[in-house]
Amino acid sequence: MRVPSGPRNIGNPPRRDHVPAFSFSPRTPVEVLIIEPKRIPRAEHPISRSLLSPAALRTLYTLKDAGYEAYMVGGGVRDILAGITPKDFDVATNAHPEQVKPLFRSCRLIGRRFVICHVRFGDEVIETTTFRGAISDSHERDETGRILSDNEYGTLASDAFRRDFTINALYYDIRDYAIVDFCGGLEDLERRLIRLIGVPEDRYREDPVRMLRAVRIANKLGFEIEAGSAEPIARLAHLLGEIPPARLFDEVIKLLQSKEAVENYESLSHFGLFAQLFPETDRLCDADDRADDFVSLALANTAERVEQQLPVSPAFLYGALLWPPVRVRFEALMRREGMAAAVAMQQAADEVLARAQGRIAIPKRFSLPMREIWSLQTRFDQQSPGRARRLMTHPRFRAAYDFLLLRAEVGEVDPALGQWWTDAQVNLPESDAEEVTDDTAPDGTPRRRRRRRRGGRNRRGTPSATE
Ligand code: ATP
Ligand code: MG
Repeated sequence: MRVPSGPRNIGNPPRRDHVPAFSFSPRTPVEVLIIEPKRIPRAEHPISRSLLSPAALRTLYTLKDAGYEAYMVGGGVRDILAGITPKDFDVATNAHPEQVKPLFRSCRLIGRRFVICHVRFGDEVIETTTFRGAISDSHERDETGRILSDNEYGTLASDAFRRDFTINALYYDIRDYAIVDFCGGLEDLERRLIRLIGVPEDRYREDPVRMLRAVRIANKLGFEIEAGSAEPIARLAHLLGEIPPARLFDEVIKLLQSKEAVENYESLSHFGLFAQLFPETDRLCDADDRADDFVSLALANTAERVEQQLPVSPAFLYGALLWPPVRVRFEALMRREGMAAAVAMQQAADEVLARAQGRIAIPKRFSLPMREIWSLQTRFDQQSPGRARRLMTHPRFRAAYDFLLLRAEVGEVDPALGQWWTDAQVNLPESDAEEVTDDTAPDGTPRRRRRRRRGGRNRRGTPSATE
């Protein structure tokens, strides 16, 4: 059964000596926000230019040399100050996108409402954003409070208060290398707290994805979510239902295809966020230890691979996250309706994926290999040398085999089956010669294997796993 308590580092009560840095609401008119920021000169903080990527520096200096303000902001500043290596660098500027674009050889404008610039240097993209204007009641919102239109530019100050957490609103000024702090982010970094800027409930309503970001950044840094920022999450988790499914796909990858996948899964479950993302899996994990063990093990496996910088695939991840309902449905179709395994698996996959896609848009390039991984599970009991060899040449064999081992580890299939396939890969090495004539017909005569048409059916008439 799932651990009832939340992760240790989430939502602990605030320290008694702590006075919240700000008490205004994000809807406070901007004139009231003319607050002198703290400026920390270069000599008093550890961010040196050598810690920024050459691409980030080029972006900042190009903007500065063209006469604009330019700051590194967000994860870059936060992570360096927290002692970890930033994943990427974000830049904020007073230059408008059409002023940014001509300054760089490769710059794409993204988004329709609020345009941001992707400045590319080789593989690296520096997300460059024009200062956002303050939020006001005139912003178009839906009935839950989510902001729908957002196209006004602003100043450094208004931009700071539009950011999500205090520790994400620290700016590194390329002119004098000082850090600018409007919202008390430095203090929260020291206290190791994730704190929303402004009134937490309003800020979550404006953009419910901030609940996912709070969990992710807390676990990434080993910080706590400050009590006032943690409290509304369980109450507002349902607002994730308003988020476009394509955006949730990306957020889930960031959460669960990461070194902190297991911690993030526990936190998401604790706050009721996982139930919003994967309702069927969540219900089954609550009811059945084996389902929960399977998901946890798959995530631990993913985290380990990310840690070792081995390739990880969203198909494997989503395949594992949706496996509990697929398996239950698959077994029911076989048992109750007497369907053949391959057909039952196809149908279970169709049904579960159709429901899941309503929440999270899984692109076809991942849902197809997911289905293959699931389908191959029905073929692992075909243990004749010929069939085994053929299965091993399937492009998805390796992923499906890893998947089988996870199932074996949680007791879903006999561990001997996993072992058989482990041995088979050693004892039945592929060779071109064997590839062509490996099977024998029941009468003992060699049987030529028929080449399978791409996307066709194998000779038993069951859908092939590549379909
Ligand atoms: P990382 O890049 O390590 O995942 P990050 O905080 O840099 O973390 P990004 O998605 O790159 O995350 O966003 C850059 C910055 O943009 C954030 O630090 C924050 O200041 C701001 N930001 C991002 N998403 C939101 C949001 N939903 N609401 C408000 N501000 C946001
Ligand atoms: Mg970033």
